[in-house]
Amino acid sequence: MTAWKVLLTDGLDKEGQEILGAVAQVDNKKDITPEEVLKVIGEYDAVIVRGRTKLTPEVFDAAGKLKVAGRAGVGVDNINLDAAKSHGVTVVNSPMATTVAVAELTLGLMLASVREIPRADAGMKQGNWLKKELRGTELFQKTLGVIGFGRIGVSVAERAKAFGMQVIAYDPLLDADEIKKRGGEPASLDDLLAKSDFITMHIPLTPESRNLLNAAAFAKMKDGVRIVCAARGGVIDEAALLEVLNSGKVASAALDVFSTEPPGKTDLASHPKVVCTPHIGAETVEAQKRAAVDIASEVVAALKGEPLRWKIV
Ligand code: NAD
Repeated sequence: MTAWKVLLTDGLDKEGQEILGAVAQVDNKKDITPEEVLKVIGEYDAVIVRGRTKLTPEVFDAAGKLKVAGRAGVGVDNINLDAAKSHGVTVVNSPMATTVAVAELTLGLMLASVREIPRADAGMKQGNWLKKELRGTELFQKTLGVIGFGRIGVSVAERAKAFGMQVIAYDPLLDADEIKKRGGEPASLDDLLAKSDFITMHIPLTPESRNLLNAAAFAKMKDGVRIVCAARGGVIDEAALLEVLNSGKVASAALDVFSTEPPGKTDLASHPKVVCTPHIGAETVEAQKRAAVDIASEVVAALKGEPLRWKIV
C-alpha cells in the first residue's frame, strides 16, 4: 500500500470508496467546513468534491502536495481551474455518469409543469378534487428549443422526440452538421427563442452563459412559452423571469437550479407558475453509483500517472 491520502469533502458512494481504499487512505469528511478544508488540505494527495465544496485559489495555495482534484459529476464551476493549473494540480470529472438522470428529470419537470402535477397532488392531499381547474397542455407536436446540445441536451432531445416533439438546438460551439448528426435542427439563438414552445437549458455556467435568458431574450419568445432549467443557477436572470411569469408572457417555469442554493422561500420558488426541485438532477441511485466509480477510477489513474479519460486541466 502506498502512503497516498484522499479527502472526500462531499461524500461518495461506497463503490467509489472501495476503489480508492484499495490504493490509498480515504478520509470521508462529508460535512467538512471551508475553514477545515483550508486547515487539512495540505495533508492530501487527492481531493474529491461534488457541488458543495468550493476549491478556491486559497485551497490550492494551502494544498502543498495535492496531485489531483476530482469532481464526482459534470460541472466544475466550483473548482478554480486557473489556480489548479498554476499549482500543477490535475482536475478530472465524471461527465458521463449523470446524463440520463438529468435528462429524465428534465422530462419530469416539463410534464409536471404542463400538467400541474404538484398542484394536483397537493390538492388531493388536502382532500380537494381540482379536476375542473387542471386542464393542461400536451408536449405532442410542440417545438422544444434546446440550448446547449451536449450530452444532456441530446439525451433530452431523444426523449422529447418520443413524445412527438420537434427539436431545434442552439450550440455556438458545434457546427450545423454536428447538431444534425446529434438529432437536432440547428438554430440561431434568436430563431430558437422565437420558435420554441418550450425552452430547456443544458449549458455550463460561464461568463458567456451567465444570464443568457434575460429580459431581452424573454421579449423575443412566443407568448405562453414554457421554460425548463436543470443546468446551473445563473444561466437565467431570475428577476427577469419573475417579471415575465407575472406578466403572463411565460406560462410556466420548471427549475432544478438557482443562483443561490438553497434559495429559501423566494417569490420565484413560491410562484404558482413555477415547479421547482432542490438541485436533484443527478440524484439517482444509478447516477451516484456511476459517478463514484468513474471518479474514483480516474483519481487512482491520476495518482498512478496512468492515461486519463476526463482530464480538464
Ligand atoms: P456537455 O459539455 O456535454 O454539453 C454542454 C454543451 O453546452 C456543449 O455542447 C457546449 O458546446 C454548449 N455550450 C457551452 N456554452 C454555451 C452557450 N453559451 N450557449 C449555448 N451552448 C453552450 O455537458 P452536459 O453533460 O450536457 O451537462 C450540461 C450542464 O448540465 C453542465 O454544465 C451542468 O452545469 C449541468 N448539470 C446539472 C445537473 C443537475 O443536477 N441539475 C447535473 C449534471 C449537469
